[in-house]
Amino acid sequence: MHDVIIVGGGPAGLNAALILGRCRRSVLLFDHGTPRNAVAPLTWGVFTRDGTPPGALRALARADLARYETVTLRVAEIVVARAVEGGFEVEAADGTTARGRRLILATGLYQDIPEIEGFSRYWGTGVHTCPYCDGYEARDREVAVYAHGPAAKGVALELTAWTGSIALCTDGRPTDLSEDDRARLSRNGVRVVEAPIARLDGDADGPTHLVLADGAILPCRAVFLMPMGVRPSDLIRQLGCELNAAGVVPTRDYEQTNVPGLYVAGDASRRVQFAIVAAAEGAMAAFAINTELLREDTR
Ligand SMILES: Cc1cc2nc3c(=O)[nH]c(=O)nc-3n(C[C@H](O)[C@H](O)[C@H](O)COP(=O)(O)OP(=O)(O)OC[C@H]3O[C@@H](n4cnc5c(N)ncnc54)[C@H](O)[C@@H]3O)c2cc1C
Repeated sequence: MHDVIIVGGGPAGLNAALILGRCRRSVLLFDHGTPRNAVAPLTWGVFTRDGTPPGALRALARADLARYETVTLRVAEIVVARAVEGGFEVEAADGTTARGRRLILATGLYQDIPEIEGFSRYWGTGVHTCPYCDGYEARDREVAVYAHGPAAKGVALELTAWTGSIALCTDGRPTDLSEDDRARLSRNGVRVVEAPIARLDGDADGPTHLVLADGAILPCRAVFLMPMGVRPSDLIRQLGCELNAAGVVPTRDYEQTNVPGLYVAGDASRRVQFAIVAAAEGAMAAFAINTELLREDTR
């Protein structure tokens, strides 16, 4: 029985392992190396590491962990997680199992990309989800916001912090925009484009334009998808953990969940999806777990 099992070796899981390793906790971390941001060339907005490739950030974190003899990293996919007497058991795809007194799921999110020609090609380089991560590189350029429904207006207005040339593309779906909404968007330089999108075209440097189903061409150097199309790991459901409408876990203080002893940190939990926030959430879960285990062991 390890003190802590961590599933997921992104910023959340790696930072949790670091804090727990320094508390001399026995930690077993599983990661199958398929992070959602693998396609992104650089990670921006990370304290002291602005503009570092995501793989390099992880490699730095793993090198730090090598100093702690109680931390073990294993490359494997965990396919089953269950509560057992005294903690949790996880099962890897190869059938091996491991047990821990506490479990941190730092599994991130799985992303579905809208099935529009060109979106997958430019995913991470010209098709983005987060303006805080990639808005700066698209500053003052022609940007399309792919959004519909009640959230569309807010997402389009958010982009005005970075550029004055925004097309809100609804791809032929309803937007629920009132006349007031349309006027506000227009006042802020957002053009509403309701025709379905045929494809995103571009060259080796990135997207250049959208082609609409009616043949019109819309210049476009970056597309921002409204927050959608993300799915959590199945492990979260297997353990009976609550999920909110956005598909993330409404964690409580220190990333605790409704399942005693189970913590969810990083993108899979409710806060903003930044690498540095994920790392901080991992640290908070680690702190709470160490405190709980100390209490148990010194009772
Ligand atoms: C395209 C893109 C660009 C981004 N750019 C930025 C940026 O510039 N700046 C920024 O701050 N943030 C950026 N982000 C967000 C940032 O990547 C995330 O907030 C951060 O990586 C979340 O960390 P995490 O540890 O929660 O999850 P992740 O980094 O996604 O890591 C989760 C890990 O868990 C593993 N895993 C999942 N399920 C299992 C399982 N069952 N068994 C074993 N392992 C499993 C995965 O393989 C993965 O390695 C970007 C995100 C995307 C998608």
